Amino acid sequence: MLGQMMTMPLTINSLVDHAARYHGDAEITSVDTDRSITRTTWREVAGRSRKLASALSNAGMNHGDRCATIAWNNYRHLEVYFGVSGSGLVCHTINPRLFPDQVKYIINHAADRIIFIDATFLPLIAGLKDEIPSVERIILMGPRDDTTLGQLPNLEFYEEFLETGDTNYTWPEFDENTASSLCYTSGTTGNPKGVLYSHRSTLLHSLAVSLPDSLNISAMETVLPVVPMFHVNAWGVPYASAMVGARMVMPGPGLDGDSLVKLIEDEKITLALGVPTIWQMLLNSADASGATLESLKRTVVGGSACPAAMIDKFRDQHGVETIHAWGMTETSPVGSVNKLLAKHLALPVKEQNALRTSQGRPPFGVELEIFDAESQPVEHDGVAYGDLHIRGHWVVSKYFGFDDSTTTKDGWFATGDVASIDADGYMTIRDRSKDIIKSGGEWISSVELEGIAQGISGLADAAVIGARHPKWDERPVLIAVKSDGDIDEKTVLEAYKGKIASWQIPDAVVFTDEIPRNPTGKVMKIVLREKFAGVLEERGA
Ligand code: AMP
Repeated sequence: MLGQMMTMPLTINSLVDHAARYHGDAEITSVDTDRSITRTTWREVAGRSRKLASALSNAGMNHGDRCATIAWNNYRHLEVYFGVSGSGLVCHTINPRLFPDQVKYIINHAADRIIFIDATFLPLIAGLKDEIPSVERIILMGPRDDTTLGQLPNLEFYEEFLETGDTNYTWPEFDENTASSLCYTSGTTGNPKGVLYSHRSTLLHSLAVSLPDSLNISAMETVLPVVPMFHVNAWGVPYASAMVGARMVMPGPGLDGDSLVKLIEDEKITLALGVPTIWQMLLNSADASGATLESLKRTVVGGSACPAAMIDKFRDQHGVETIHAWGMTETSPVGSVNKLLAKHLALPVKEQNALRTSQGRPPFGVELEIFDAESQPVEHDGVAYGDLHIRGHWVVSKYFGFDDSTTTKDGWFATGDVASIDADGYMTIRDRSKDIIKSGGEWISSVELEGIAQGISGLADAAVIGARHPKWDERPVLIAVKSDGDIDEKTVLEAYKGKIASWQIPDAVVFTDEIPRNPTGKVMKIVLREKFAGVLEERGA
């Protein structure tokens, strides 16, 4: 017998409609690309999203077509999120920090028809315009500005494009499993792969992350997503904020410590989300200026491991609770959140803090498990390690454009992380099975850097590891064996210029006698890390 309740599709347009209807006056504060501040509301964002959807339909965009964005966190980007997905198109957010060749690859792979860009990224797209044949229109996210036409003669302007739409547009009806947005993830080898989220997965993720034991997002909060909208949909915060009608503050390009401290104090932010590198810069800046961050109640830290010292500093100096979370592009992203349980409140603060550094427990909707090399579950004793697997309503089942399933025969997604899980389900990331280097929330492929090293004459052998860095968490360091006694560090680093984005170039070269290899010839990175992970700190980074 079936239940006899209404069934309505879980679609993203219903989020912004709800925000407009029940939280219409809640403000969206936005730092624009020129650093000016615009104040709008959920009601206006919803209205302009519908108008944009109408303009896109008039422009001949068809259900499922991809519209890309290369943009900061600002109110127009929010309108594009809801206008594009809400009308059954796919919002493809592009990470402008990728190397231009990768940006070109993903635009072509996604076959984007329209790209919305912020002025900052005009040079990037102008350099690629002849190599992205699927792109019919490039729309600058602002009013008309004829001075930009010198860089891109066919450039169009958002505010003019919007005027071609109709405010009375009504959202189309479609299945909740329809694709809503697309993010590419950069793996260790090969090209980036696309994760195609659905309306249903996004809605369920929004419900889960808003819960009190998750990120605790509500209409009481003023939310600052420092995490970019081109990183896994800003961790789903724009959707969750619409769902609960939170006030949002969009930081635009102002991601340095001083700008963020000012924004938090001026706009009375209560909840802020970002990677550890950002919070380190913010804490340094607050130290320097003596800012107290009075309004801030919680920070959510994820993307890479949150140091215990950061949790302590936020609490002791600013009275801020740090919520450590783990996730991936493939998991929408939230897979676990660290919140204490009632029974922990009686523990001494020191023990509570030790618990808080783990990556936490899954919210309802996803499950985590660890497996050994024989695919057997590993004991949940908080000590034993295993390959971390995840399954749930917002976990990828295949990559965009690929037929192969990403699901194991038992129905899990293998994350590539190595973790332990304790008896209460708290998961701790111990290592990455891949050796990717995480620099300030961005990934650097060690394999790519090693490939370049192979082409440098004077080097006999080389391997790249992530060395600890006080600002960027990790930076690449090349461990090399000389074939020519004369080659020095400067010459090696010079050889990287022009072959890779400048921020991906190693910070240092350490010469050694031999690169340790296992019997099958693979470099033993663990041995190298044990020896050289502290080299940048020793050099006073
Ligand atoms: P991305 O798909 O770029 O978001 O990267 C996902 C990867 O980042 C995960 O597989 C982890 O290796 C790493 N990661 C994310 N959050 C954390 C965290 N809180 N602690 C440690 N590693 C993390």
